[in-house]
This record gives sequence, structure tokens and C-alpha cells, in this order.
Amino acid sequence: MALDFTFTDEQRMLEDSVLKWANTWLEPQMEHMYEIDEMPKDLFKQMGELGINGIAFDEKYGGAGLGYVETLLAYETIARVSNALSMTVGASQTLCFDNFRRNATEAQRAYVLPKACTGEWIGCLGITEPNAGSDAMSMATKAEKKGDKYIINGSKIFITNGPVAQFMVFYAKTDPAAGPKGISTFFFEVDKVKGVKFEKIKKWGMRTSPTALVTFEDMEVPEENLIGGLNKGVAVLTSGLCTERITLSGCTLGGQRSCLELSLKYAKERVQFGKPIASFQTIQEKLANMYCGYKAGKFLAYSAAAYCDSLTNKSGGKGTDLDRMAAASLLFNGEMGTKIGLDAIQIFGGYGYCTEYAISRHFLDQKLWEIGAGTSEIRRMIIARELMRDDFKSGL
Ligand SMILES: Cc1cc2nc3c(=O)[nH]c(=O)nc-3n(C[C@H](O)[C@H](O)[C@H](O)COP(=O)(O)OP(=O)(O)OC[C@H]3O[C@@H](n4cnc5c(N)ncnc54)[C@H](O)[C@@H]3O)c2cc1C
Repeated sequence: MALDFTFTDEQRMLEDSVLKWANTWLEPQMEHMYEIDEMPKDLFKQMGELGINGIAFDEKYGGAGLGYVETLLAYETIARVSNALSMTVGASQTLCFDNFRRNATEAQRAYVLPKACTGEWIGCLGITEPNAGSDAMSMATKAEKKGDKYIINGSKIFITNGPVAQFMVFYAKTDPAAGPKGISTFFFEVDKVKGVKFEKIKKWGMRTSPTALVTFEDMEVPEENLIGGLNKGVAVLTSGLCTERITLSGCTLGGQRSCLELSLKYAKERVQFGKPIASFQTIQEKLANMYCGYKAGKFLAYSAAAYCDSLTNKSGGKGTDLDRMAAASLLFNGEMGTKIGLDAIQIFGGYGYCTEYAISRHFLDQKLWEIGAGTSEIRRMIIARELMRDDFKSGL
């Protein structure tokens, strides 16, 4: 059993190339883009050139044929400069296109995935509704069959990439009386349908990552746009949430790492009372806690990703060890991200309160990870449920 985080040469090259790109292309734009809350133009084309968009997709679609460990590493590395844009890339490539890939037909994959890999198409995923957040199964969006089409009515809220997406995967009730057993998964190309509206939502954190309220009013989609089986949406949704929670742990990890690195540098340079503030024990305590938190979270996330890569079907959801490991990864990292962000701002003092310093963005973005992809409360419920399973015997 390997007990360290020694990445392969290929993984190191991936990390180096993404970091170089993030430092040279992304970092110089971030202060301005965060201020105006706009996603940098050509972000996804850049991701396509770097091979990140299709990192987990087969080479025949233009992907790199790698796994969730590499996906997590890529998201962590982007987040060392921008947590928000790492989330935006993850929302498109993992939440939307990877979920689609795992459930679509070969012909559908062959049509859609090459456009996702190049960055021509950006994707989004719709689960959450104005009145169905944590209780996602109570969703009210309906899909009614009419001939060879489904008519969609309802709405989805907080949809990452909604304002810029060309492609959407979403869930709707196909048999409302059956509750969770009446949910199905659909997709559509934004410019091929009528009756859908995307309205941008203003946020104080995760700026640059566009978020939308999506409204469906008699939107028609062909019946072949139902994927994963009629009324089988819950399995698709919960499986997708597992890979989402694991890989998007990279967003908070990258932010944590930058908080530590930037704080360390600043604490050594900033002089008060005639000494660098790093010489004060209360500052050292924060740095030591940040290091321990980041390293512990890293273990949870990468071990969950490696476990997921080792599974043949990679299915998560209720009754699987993957569900517990994925929820634990994002629970710990989400809460640690907020703590580390707060400590970093404290080390920077008043300068940490100014938007000119990247640390302010790292701090603002972290809080989302206690909310998005199922809140901390819901993740604890999942972990406890899986621990109390009658057949639970492994994983400690
Ligand atoms: C920036 C951003 C991006 C997002 N991106 C997407 C996306 O791309 N796609 C998508 O579908 N969704 C997305 N979301 C939505 C996100 O997943 C939801 O916000 C989240 O699941 C919580 O739902 P809610 O906001 O309705 O909160 P609620 O469910 O109303 O929860 C409010 C509070 O009550 C607590 N609570 C609820 N039920 C229980 C319970 N049973 N026990 C204890 N406490 C409970 C919650 O933990 C929380 O603290 C995004 C959200 C944000 C802010």
C-alpha cells in the first residue's frame, strides 16, 4: 500500500502545465474579472488546449483518458489561482458532461463530447429548485410525454454556468405521484429549444463563475433526450453527486493551499514591533493549523478519488462506500476551507480586507463549499447513514 502522495511523472506534468497556465494567463485578469463578475473570455477554449476539459473522457472523443485523481489534481491546481473558475470548469466537465457521458448512448456521446473537449460547448447541471434544495427529491419541475416529445415546465436555481451554457443536463418528474421513483434525467442544446430562460444571479463570493435561475415554460425536448432510463433519475443524480463531491474537493483544496502559501510569504515579509509577524507564536499557530488542515483534507479527497478510480462501474449513491467517502471529502474540506480562509485574512490584517490582494478572493470563495453539492448538514447525514448500514464493514 502506498502511504504517500507521490504523483506519477504524468500527473506532475499535468500539475506543472496547469499551474503555469493559471499563473500566467489567469492570475493577471482575476482582480478585474472578480470586480466585474465576468468569466474570462475563452476560459473553456484554454482548458481545451490544456487537455483539461476532456481529462476523464476517452481519447476517441478528444479526451485524455485519465481518471478522477487527475481530475481532482487539475481542479486543485486551477483553484490555486481561482476557486470560482475551478468550480465553473468542474460544473461543466464533471457535473454536466461526465454525468451525460455515463448515461448517454454511444451516438449521443460521439456528437456531444468532442465539443465539450475543445471547449466549444460549456455545460451546466440542474438539480436545485427554488423550493427544493437539500430536499432535492421534492423537485417540482415536470416532464410530460406528448407523442415523441417531453414538455418541460418548472425552474432550477443556482445553476453554475447557466448564463453561458450551450448544453444542459437536468432532472424532472416524469411520474410525480411516484416521488423519488418518478424522476428522470434529460439534456438539451440551448439553441435548439424554445421556452427556456437563463437569468444571472448576483453573488458576493464565487464571482467570475456565472450562476443562473433557469425557467422552463413549455420547453419541448425530443424523447431521445431522456438518458439513464425512465424514472431512474435518482441513481444518476446520487452517483453524479459522488464524483462531484470528490473532484470539486479540489476547488477548496487549491484555495486552502494558496491561503497557506500566501500567508507564509506575507508573515515572513510583514514586519511589526521590529520583527516579521511570522516570529509571533499566535501567527505560527495559525500557519501550523492551516498546514495540518490542508494535508488532512488532501488525504480524504485523493484517497476517495483513487478509490473511485479503482471501481469498475464507479457508481455511488445510497448504500455504497463511495457515498460516505465522497461526502466526507467535501464535508471536511469545505469546513476546513472556511477556517483556513479566515486565518489567512487574519494574518494579512487590513490588507486582507482589500480586493487588490488575492487572499480576499480565496477567502470569499471558500464558504460556498459548506453549501454547494449538498450542505455540510446533508453530508453528515449521508456519512452517518452509510456508517449505520447493516453491511458496513470496511473503510475505517
Ligand atoms: C454558487 C452556487 C453554485 C451552485 N451550483 C449549483 C449547480 O450548478 N447545480 C445545482 O443543481 N445546484 C447548485 N447549487 C445549489 C446548492 O447545491 C444548494 O444551494 C444546496 O444544495 C442547498 O440548498 P438550498 O440553498 O436550497 O438550502 P436549503 O436546503 O434550504 O437549506 C438551508 C439550511 O437548512 C439546512 N437543512 C436543510 N435540510 C436539513 C436537514 N434535513 N437537517 C439539517 N439541516 C437541514 C441546510 O443544511 C442549510 O443549512 C449552487 C449553489 C450556489 C450557492
